[in-house]
Amino acid sequence: MSKRYTGLINHYKNRLPVDKNTKFISLGEGNTPLIRLENIPALLGKNVDIYVKYEGLNPTGSFKDRGMTMAVTKAVEAGSKAIICASTGNTSASAAAYAARAGIKAFVLIPEGKIALGKLAQAMMHGAVIIQIKGNFDDGMRLVKEVANHAPVSIVNSINPFRLQGQKTAAFEIVEELGDAPDYHCLPVGNAGNISAHWMGYKEYNQDGISAKTPSMVGYQAEGAAPFTKGEMVDNPETIATAIRIGHPQSWDLAHKVKEESNGWFDAISDEAILAAQKLLTEQEGIFCEPASATSLAGAMIDINNGKIPEGSTIVCTLTGHGLKDPDTAIAQCKSEMILINPVMDEVKNAILENM
Ligand SMILES: *Cc1c(COP(=O)(O)O)cnc(C)c1O
Repeated sequence: MSKRYTGLINHYKNRLPVDKNTKFISLGEGNTPLIRLENIPALLGKNVDIYVKYEGLNPTGSFKDRGMTMAVTKAVEAGSKAIICASTGNTSASAAAYAARAGIKAFVLIPEGKIALGKLAQAMMHGAVIIQIKGNFDDGMRLVKEVANHAPVSIVNSINPFRLQGQKTAAFEIVEELGDAPDYHCLPVGNAGNISAHWMGYKEYNQDGISAKTPSMVGYQAEGAAPFTKGEMVDNPETIATAIRIGHPQSWDLAHKVKEESNGWFDAISDEAILAAQKLLTEQEGIFCEPASATSLAGAMIDINNGKIPEGSTIVCTLTGHGLKDPDTAIAQCKSEMILINPVMDEVKNAILENM
């Protein structure tokens, strides 16, 4: 039998709502690296094992592909000719790619001017119909829910239960690699679909005796878009981490249950701390994630430092999306670090010697 990896539905088909007649719409998503941080724990001066699950290495560069392969597979199975989503960027990129693969139409609603350049390029290249809204993600989500009752389109946002089914497989992969669940699993939280999906996966493996324990689930939001720590919806969310610029999370109740069942917590992280963690990870470990993704590590570092996450713990931080998604924010952080010279050897040599 061929050992070729052909995507998470085929790999986990016994644990997903598919049968032998289902045609899998896949781009080889899942099976992403779980990388152990080598330099950052030493910088923190703490005895902790931190792993990052590099979801930016999915086919369209974010974890959304795990959910999208399931959502589009089931939409096509049900005879759908079009899908629709509201998006801060990555859902639209993923929906556009899987729709292209399936030969159906994708309609994506995005907030005007607030989507990272790479994500917009993807949605455009894959041929999605891009509808910009003079509003934010929450406006788009409200409209998508309304219009789905009036037009023949399947919603592929995380309110689609097949999305969470696909996304739970990330927890399976982590348990398989570590031999058990970690003590803490930290994620950036927007709509809170992903933290809920991971918890489903961890519980499933624990109930089936594949893992001995389940982790405490820790959800970090950006300070300007932190309804979970505020305890109420936020009407004008603002953060540099555009992927989690969400004030009205769709999985509000689910996420509160996750927190209680898993003995976890929510916290809010400043944009400065998010960008600092993004830079630290790229400079110290060679791993480039987008700003929203670094929220998990930023939060984990704060809670490791203050002892909320004790020494001796094994921690997994999900890096939800690739750093190349948002080149503008990356370059804006690094502009001063470029050197300009005349094309002569001496000037190159000086540039090297002055910067050794
Ligand atoms: C979608 C997304 C999130 C938020 O995930 P939720 O399931 O909405 O909580 C975080 N980071 C990135 C990069 C994303 O694309």
